[in-house]
Parts: sequence; structure tokens; C-alpha cells
Amino acid sequence: MITRKSVREIDKMRRAGRIVAEVLALVESELRPGVTTAHLDRLAERHILGAGAIPSFKGYLGGGRYGKGPRAFPASTCISIDSEVVHGIPGERTIRAGSLVSVDVGAIVEGWHGDGARTFVVGDVGQQARDLVDATRLAMMAGIGAAQAGARVGDISAAVEDVGKAHGFGIVRPFVGHGIGTEMHQEPQVPNYRTGSRGPELLPGVCLAIEPMFTLGSGDVYVEADGWTVNTADDALAAHFEHTIAVTDDGPEILTTIR
Ligand code: MG
Repeated sequence: MITRKSVREIDKMRRAGRIVAEVLALVESELRPGVTTAHLDRLAERHILGAGAIPSFKGYLGGGRYGKGPRAFPASTCISIDSEVVHGIPGERTIRAGSLVSVDVGAIVEGWHGDGARTFVVGDVGQQARDLVDATRLAMMAGIGAAQAGARVGDISAAVEDVGKAHGFGIVRPFVGHGIGTEMHQEPQVPNYRTGSRGPELLPGVCLAIEPMFTLGSGDVYVEADGWTVNTADDALAAHFEHTIAVTDDGPEILTTIR
């Protein structure tokens, strides 16, 4: 079931989204060769907790469930480098110059979620990699622009896919955007490619995480032995951008932003 959020509920998601945006800005300011991904994650977690929110990735088992143990996601951010697409686990690895660093953050305020991601360029990565990052961000913005009241989820998918295809980039298909609210992942799914169906109608109050993942290769991916990290099958570079948005009568509102 696709739920429509009230003005008050969206305001809580706006607060969660603001914290997500603050964390991404904080990580950007600390991102340089030599820092470990665990250091960035600690800063992120401290900021989320200090803002009175809960890190929504920590302890996540998938499928909306949380717990402890080896299968639970151990950190407050996902940090994915170069050919890693999403769900990289922060650790003692250091950032190197010439890297694409994708950071995904989730925060919960009074039970309401915000979810956002950006790919950062560290040092000189070459023109193709910069184009990949720019196009993935533009695809996200095109998808957001298509999220008008009365449009369909399929319009978002088409807008994202068109940007990826125009550049000849691989589109990652097994991982998609999603509805969001009292859980991180709700209906509907928001694919980054046409599915052959128009999908559900976008009514005011529908909240979505729109998150294209493009690669310089085929777009095929696999999950590494750690059970989380998603890597490109051909080791091609990948980029990932994500905003949480609300569909409103006045157009899409980006919630994961600092106003
Ligand atoms: Mg997401």
C-alpha cells in the first residue's frame, strides 16, 4: 500500500532529511586522501545522534527489520568506493586521491525517515568519471522533476533512464528507489529504468527516495562476501545520488536538504 503523508508527518521527514543533508555536507568537508571511512562514519553518527535523531542504517537486517549479530549492517553510513555501487561498510580503509566516494546516510526523527546519498570526487579522477558523477546527479534531478502530482512512478523511471541512456552509462537494475516514511523502504519501488508499466499514480503526500545508480560499464552488479557491498560485475566505476522527496500540489519538494 502506498501511504500519503500528512503535512505534520512531512515536517518530521523534513527534519530527518535536513540532518541527512548536514551529514553529507560534514562528510564532504572532511573528505580527503588519508582519512579512513570509519572516521567519516564516526563523524556522521555523532552528528545524527547529536541532532537527536537515530541512524537508520545501523543494525539494519534488510526487509525493514533490525537486530544485532553478523548480518546486521554495522555502521551509520554506507561508504562505497570506485566500483562499489552502494552498501559499502565503513572500516579502516583510507580514502585515496583519484577516487569516487559514494556516501549514503539515513536518519530517523520521531519515527520518520530521511535517506540521501551523494558521490564525491576526491582528487583527479578523469573526465569520464566526472561525467558519470554529473550525469547521475542530473538523472536524480530529472527524476525529481518528473515527480509531479498526477504523474506516475513510471514517469520518474523514464526520466532517470533517459539521462543514463543518453550518456551510454550502465544502469544498475537490481537496486531501486523506494517509498519512505515510518520505514526506510516502503511501497512503491522506483526503478531507474522503464518497466513496461506506468506504475502507480503520484498523489500529494507520497514520499519517495529517488536514487539512480549509474556505471561506466554494463550496470551488472554482485554482492560481495561481506553480504552487503554491491560491486559492479565488470569493476567499472559507479556513482549514486539520492534525495528523499515529497510529492505536493506545488511540485516535488526535496526533503534531504538544508534550508
Ligand atoms: Mg534509499
